[in-house]
Amino acid sequence: MKEIRPGIWFIAGENRGRYPYSHSLWIEGGENLLIDAGAGPALHGLTGKTGRVVLSHYHRDHVACNSFFEGASFSIHADDAAGVESREGFLRLSGLDRVDIDSYWKMVRQTNFMPTKMDYRFRDGEYIDSGNLKIRVLHLPGHTPGHCGFLVEDYNLIFSADIDLSEFGPWYGNTTSDLEQFRRSIRRLREMKPDILVTGHGRPVEGDPERMLKEYEEVLDRRDEAIIEALKKQPATLEELVPKRIIYPRHYGREILLYFERNMLEKHLDKLLAGGMAALEDNGRYEAL
Ligand SMILES: [Zn+2]
Ligand SMILES: [Zn+2]
Repeated sequence: MKEIRPGIWFIAGENRGRYPYSHSLWIEGGENLLIDAGAGPALHGLTGKTGRVVLSHYHRDHVACNSFFEGASFSIHADDAAGVESREGFLRLSGLDRVDIDSYWKMVRQTNFMPTKMDYRFRDGEYIDSGNLKIRVLHLPGHTPGHCGFLVEDYNLIFSADIDLSEFGPWYGNTTSDLEQFRRSIRRLREMKPDILVTGHGRPVEGDPERMLKEYEEVLDRRDEAIIEALKKQPATLEELVPKRIIYPRHYGREILLYFERNMLEKHLDKLLAGGMAALEDNGRYEAL
């Protein structure tokens, strides 16, 4: 644990916060507040000292240690609550109820889904009581419908969860993820000009988070351009584009990632069609215009 501002502790997730782990913040004061519960063993020391747990979104890497905090009150944005309260809700929100991939199901069994009942569902602009500090909910949808960040106003510090500035880039691979919402959420953070940005998976960024957020947003444009480039060479169906690994050329090894690649490509293609930059031919192939 590292105190990054008076009373605010950064808890690094196992394996440097890489999936299936993530970083947490712990805020002293009042009942003591934990933001996200996916850091792994590092959270054991906070069991019994934490009265409230606030979750940024429903993904497993942010909620897997909820069971350490029995007796605490839990909250999450209203649009993501179903994803932690039941396995059915998780499958529905993620779209993974439609996935027929053995390796994926093996992983789900290993992670042992434990539902957590939410005591409260918050919305954008609400304040979370943490004793001394004022913490405002920022609804930053796109990654998931109810994905949220948290602004500690006293220090202009934002916890931005999976707007994570990682080299993996913005991720919107679930069926209910939304590409354009994701872009608007990055823009909102840029306009807020935080002094320090703490993400769910990278190192806290001080100094110039705005520049890094801009670069992170530009990844979205580069993906559009790469798809257009591929279609200029040869019109292709969605299924023909997936194995080209345009979105994630370097991150393969597991079949499930091709499924996410497909979902993300589809969102870009919808956007390119709507913007008149691509057309869908009768034979199901997309062509660049
Ligand atoms: Zn996530
Ligand atoms: Zn995450």
